[in-house]
Amino acid sequence: MTDTTVKALVYAECLDGKLRRVALEALGAARLLAGDGGSVHAVLVGGGPGAALQEAAAELAARGAGVVHVVDDPALAGFAPEAYAAAIGAAVAAAQPSIIVLGHTAAGRELAPRVAAGIGGGHVADVTAIEPGGDGGAAALLTRPLYAGKAFEQRRFLPGAPQVITVRPNNLPVAEPVAPGGEGWIAALPYQAPPLWTVVRGIARKAGGTVDLAEADVIVAGGRGVRSPEGFAPLAALAEVLGGAVGASRGACDAGYCDYALQIGQTGKTVTPKLYIACGISGAIQHLAGMSQSRVIVAINKDPEAPIFGVADYGIVGDLFEVVPLLTQRFRTLFN
Ligand code: FAD
Repeated sequence: MTDTTVKALVYAECLDGKLRRVALEALGAARLLAGDGGSVHAVLVGGGPGAALQEAAAELAARGAGVVHVVDDPALAGFAPEAYAAAIGAAVAAAQPSIIVLGHTAAGRELAPRVAAGIGGGHVADVTAIEPGGDGGAAALLTRPLYAGKAFEQRRFLPGAPQVITVRPNNLPVAEPVAPGGEGWIAALPYQAPPLWTVVRGIARKAGGTVDLAEADVIVAGGRGVRSPEGFAPLAALAEVLGGAVGASRGACDAGYCDYALQIGQTGKTVTPKLYIACGISGAIQHLAGMSQSRVIVAINKDPEAPIFGVADYGIVGDLFEVVPLLTQRFRTLFN
């Protein structure tokens, strides 16, 4: 008889030695897929000073990872796709999972196809919703957006197929802590460095605030309507009060008002915050492609005919330089 129990393995991505929120969302997805009868493992990869992997491992164990495999090696101090894929491969060999879950981040997108190829498995990227298969061994139903969010498709893996999925940040709930006594255990996993075709010499960080755009709950985005780099200051103040991040349209980036690292849209980042405040953005189709899945959209634009109002839940027709400071002031009094 075929074993239909789901064994899930999560690649728990860290940034600056800390677990990214999407790692906990991937763990939540893995727990959902495994159900009560399955098992969940996690793998942490890193090394060198400041890796803080043990702290991250303890958090994963407390949030439902039955076993946390820690691959801690100085050769893994910096992100190198081939090396990281090999480290995940070591965890795959140890855990023998039927499904592997990663975050749909820049690193996850790089690693997932390598991991899938390594196990001869299929890959579904950018999953935004999961319906577990339930009893009887049916594979889970996975939903992912298509055509820049204009349509959705649902996929299942064939029974018994090795599966690799990436989950879009900010779409699935994070794994909650388990009851005391139910924590998993932590195991060190030896790392065998593979021959590398490419070596990452360094990673240059571009502009960015304290909150990661892809994982931000609140984004205040500016368009060409902000008129200058200084025009972003009121947006940054509003973002700060709301604990959010600043984003931008390509119009604003092209005009030199801000760094391209902030660009949201078809050729920029895809974001799904709880609240997206679009300031002086017209709402071109290429911009909507990156933000239309946000839970609540507020548009501030002085043109009542601007297409952004077509996707906005709340629209404010007015000058952003008047409206944004008023909102900031109001939220500051509310929250302080
Ligand atoms: P505009 O269209 O110029 O709109 C500015 C808005 O600000 C106007 O609606 C105006 O009414 C309003 N405004 C002006 N002053 C004020 C004020 N004081 N207060 C309130 N409102 C004010 N764009 C992206 O954003 N992301 C992408 O990833 C992207 N990819 C692209 C890929 C391709 C292949 C192509 C061809 C285009 C792409 N674009 C992308 C560009 C896109 O088509 C638009 O040109 C761009 O989004 C427009 O930026 P914007 O809304 O800031 O500027």
